[in-house]
Amino acid sequence: HAKRAGRNTYHFYAEFMNTHSDDSLILRNSLRQALARGEFFLEYQPQIDLLTGRIIGAEALVRWMHPERGRIGPVTFIELAEQCGVIIPLGEWVLQEACRQGAIWHQQGYSLVIAVNLSSVQFKRGNLEHSVVQALSASGLPAHLLELELTESILIENTTGVLNTVQRLKSLGIKLSIDDFGTGYSSLAYLTRLAVDKLKVDQSFVRFMTEVPANAAIIRAIIQMAHSLGLKAIAEGVENDRARQFLLANHCDEAQGYWFSKPVSAQDFVALLEAEEQRDV
Ligand code: C2E
Ligand code: MG
Ligand code: MG
Ligand code: MG
Repeated sequence: HAKRAGRNTYHFYAEFMNTHSDDSLILRNSLRQALARGEFFLEYQPQIDLLTGRIIGAEALVRWMHPERGRIGPVTFIELAEQCGVIIPLGEWVLQEACRQGAIWHQQGYSLVIAVNLSSVQFKRGNLEHSVVQALSASGLPAHLLELELTESILIENTTGVLNTVQRLKSLGIKLSIDDFGTGYSSLAYLTRLAVDKLKVDQSFVRFMTEVPANAAIIRAIIQMAHSLGLKAIAEGVENDRARQFLLANHCDEAQGYWFSKPVSAQDFVALLEAEEQRDV
């Protein structure tokens, strides 16, 4: 209970800050122009097949190059973008840009799944299905190479509406995963009715695996549950080889984290792919 109270206090504080501080007002105003000015860019973090050790996917993560402040991470601006509605055009841009890059890699002969994060606001407002169809056709990326990362909060919000949207997205042939799994409140019954492909074990369990003994049990349980439901499991926040070995021993399918690579530019991502090819020959 103490932990829960602490969390709520933090949320209240964070919200208060976002709404009232000068700082966030300045950011909020410049957010509106940032998209037109081309200040957003994507970095890509490799997703690794644990059995082969090879890169099989790339998660696209948005960053903001602010003219005065320099580089700003998504934790600082996504919530603001959601509050002022900019998340709709921003989310569309992320989708288009990630598909464009994925299609280039596909043409170069790399068969990578490109994972894109979605905000719950994109689910509720905005025509998500239309945006996805557009991004795929404009880029030429095959649908099976696009994966959308949903959060548990999306899934608990609006049952029938969400179920329909998820079904329609799935019928386009794309993949779906549930991000930060284990931190939200999605019901297990609900999971089986949703056509998702993968659970992403939240990085907090993985990063603090040795500090919090229960985390190892939670990670194992999520991997086993994913497999019982016919889903894949990927672990985030793999920062050392001990975590990698634990996940491999417990049959986790994929992993992502600083141990393999931080998120990097598209150019540096290609260097990672080329280095891998060099190792193989
Ligand atoms: P996420 O989707 O769970 O992404 C994973 C975050 O963990 C990323 O932070 C990544 O850089 C970081 N990370 C990856 N491996 C490690 C590791 O081994 N150790 C540690 N300590 N951290 C690691 P980032 O890029 O700051 O993104 C934070 C969150 O912002 C994302 O969490 C996602 O929820 C959101 N986000 C990022 N890009 C987008 C986007 O285009 N649209 C939306 N709606 N949300 C986004
Ligand atoms: Mg994600
Ligand atoms: Mg996550
Ligand atoms: Mg997250």
